[in-house]
Amino acid sequence: MGALGRVLAEPIVSRATIPPWPNSSMDGYAVRSTDTNGQPVELAVVGRIIAGAMPSRVLGAGESMQIFTGAPLPEGADAVVPQEVVTADGGRVTVRDKITSGAYVRRAGEDVRAGDVVVEPGGVIGAAEVGLLATLGYSQVRVYRRPRVAILSTGNELADLGTQPGPAQIPNTNTYSLMAQVIEAGAEPINVGVAPDQLEAIIERARWGLASADVLVTSAGVSVGELDLVREALERSGAELHLWQVSMRPGKPITFGTRGGRPVFGLPGNPVSAMVTFELFVRPALRRMQGAQVIDRPRLRARALEPIANPGSRRGYLRVTLEEDAHGYGARLTGDQGSAILRSMVLADGLAVIAPDTTIAAGEAVDVIVLRALEPRTR
Ligand code: AMP
Ligand code: MG
Repeated sequence: MGALGRVLAEPIVSRATIPPWPNSSMDGYAVRSTDTNGQPVELAVVGRIIAGAMPSRVLGAGESMQIFTGAPLPEGADAVVPQEVVTADGGRVTVRDKITSGAYVRRAGEDVRAGDVVVEPGGVIGAAEVGLLATLGYSQVRVYRRPRVAILSTGNELADLGTQPGPAQIPNTNTYSLMAQVIEAGAEPINVGVAPDQLEAIIERARWGLASADVLVTSAGVSVGELDLVREALERSGAELHLWQVSMRPGKPITFGTRGGRPVFGLPGNPVSAMVTFELFVRPALRRMQGAQVIDRPRLRARALEPIANPGSRRGYLRVTLEEDAHGYGARLTGDQGSAILRSMVLADGLAVIAPDTTIAAGEAVDVIVLRALEPRTR
């Protein structure tokens, strides 16, 4: 069960043919289809095959055997007549209709043939794969390691969970939303705490994060203010920064770098910006590091159920709910799109991607990145 949700690191090759022999998909009578011709025919019942037992002999012409669902077909038989459509009378059974060859028979190997690759590496193991692995006799499989991701929040104003916020303090949100996103992405979070807006303090925790994890994710302090020290701190911790600022809303101030091949992400501080930039930049990287074939969230085309406006020169990722109706999915804004309004993420099914300076009119199509399983909602 430990493999559930993990990414497979080896191909799963079937060691067996499944089913190993042709078997019945119904309770009824195993027959030779050529014995039936559309006229009522009477066949002798010469045996009884229950699931878990092999037939005692070959089926001859003019003969039938009572058979149960899942029981192996006797040699000679090529079809099953369901018991609902025959008249049985002790030693004999009357079949009225012509039976086609293969009727109600599960062919040997119709599910899997020995040597078939049944799951490719890079695939995610779900409940069906677990069942298939059990069928094939695998009690263990190789999966990719979960990347370890250090989460560092920065800011003088942050009061961490369990401490009483001072007069000008706010609760630390990002450490916890980001750790949860790391887990949802299949990786393992390491909380390296909160650093105040002091260079040495940030460097110390960034080094700790880089020493204990495969990836470092920081939040806040990455904008243009005097106390935005994260970029300098990351460089002083040995990271080479490759970019700063992306033309998007929310989430413009973001930096990305590497230290000895390990990715380092400096995300913005506003809770929505941190979550959205995690979605767009960090999650795909974590999926790739786990060997997943598919690293992006699914997208769908929805109809705007109200005007969706993205004024300004940056690409917009607006939080929307998705509602299904007879025409497909409709998208509606979650309300205020301020990047500090975490409720917009709580309500969101997805992110509507809107070009700069664009308003999608009601009824027009819009691209939506789907963030969660679209379960029916009671609202
Ligand atoms: P900054 O980029 O440091 O200017 O932060 C932008 C905004 O995000 C400020 O209003 C911060 O108070 C807020 N913020 C920063 N870090 C966190 C955090 N860990 N939890 C909640 N809000 C935060
Ligand atoms: Mg700050």
